Amino acid sequence: MIDLQAAPISQIAPSAARKEAHLAMNLHSARVRDVLRGRGVTSVYHANTVLTSCHFIHAAALLSRGLVENRGLAQTPQWSDALDKDYGIWFDVFADSVDIHARARTWNHYGPVLFVLDADVLLAEPSVSVTRRNPSAWRGLGQDERWFKSTDDLEANFQRGDFNQMLVLRESEGALRFRDFLTSIVLDDPQLTDSTGRNLYDLASGALAAAIEVSRLNLTVERRVCDERCECRLRYRENLPISFSRFLPAN
Ligand SMILES: [Zn+2]
Repeated sequence: MIDLQAAPISQIAPSAARKEAHLAMNLHSARVRDVLRGRGVTSVYHANTVLTSCHFIHAAALLSRGLVENRGLAQTPQWSDALDKDYGIWFDVFADSVDIHARARTWNHYGPVLFVLDADVLLAEPSVSVTRRNPSAWRGLGQDERWFKSTDDLEANFQRGDFNQMLVLRESEGALRFRDFLTSIVLDDPQLTDSTGRNLYDLASGALAAAIEVSRLNLTVERRVCDERCECRLRYRENLPISFSRFLPAN
C-alpha cells in the first residue's frame, strides 16, 4: 500500500522541466472553483484503470503517475506517459470538469473507472492550473498557449465540456486526498468475459469493492448507465487486449 508520508515529490523530482512547468500558471484555487461553479460545474472527474484505481482507493487520494511509479507500485501504462515526463507534469494530478465518457458517448482512453469528486476538493490546494490545450498538442507551444494565464483569462475563456481544459494540481505532492469529497465511483460494464468465462465487470467491481472496504470509504461501486448511442461496448469488444488490461485488477 502506498505511503504518502515518504519522501515528498518536491525532493525526489526537482527536474528542470518540472520547475519550468511550475512557473506556469498557478491560479488561486477558490477562484477556479468559483469559475467552474459559474459554468455549472459542481463535480470534477478522474478516469483510470482498475489496477491504478485500487491504489487510489487504498490511499484515499488521486495519485500522480510519477508518485505511483516512485513508490514501486504497478500501474497500467498510458499513451501519454512519455509526454507527461517530457513536459514536467509526470508528478501532477489531473482532473476533468466533465464526464468525458458520457459526453463523448464512447470509452474514456484513461480507463473504465470514474472517480466523481465534489469540486471543493480543489480547495485542498492553494492553486490549480488549467490547461488551454491538451498536453498531447503542446509541441511547439509556449506556456501562454498551454495554460490559462489568469483567473480573468479562465473566466473569459473556460468552456464546460472542452476536453482540452484540464485541471492540474501541482502543489499536492502528487496526492490529492479525496476522503471527504468523493461522491461516487462509476465503473463501465463492457459485457465481456475472459477465456475462463469470468465476467470482466464482476472481476473489476469486486477488486474495487475490496479496496473500498479496506479504506473504509462510505460508498459502493456504481455500474455506468450509458446513453443508447454510446459506443463504449463496441470499442471494448474491438480492442480486447486493451480492454482486459484496463479491467483486470492485476497485471
Ligand atoms: Zn458507454
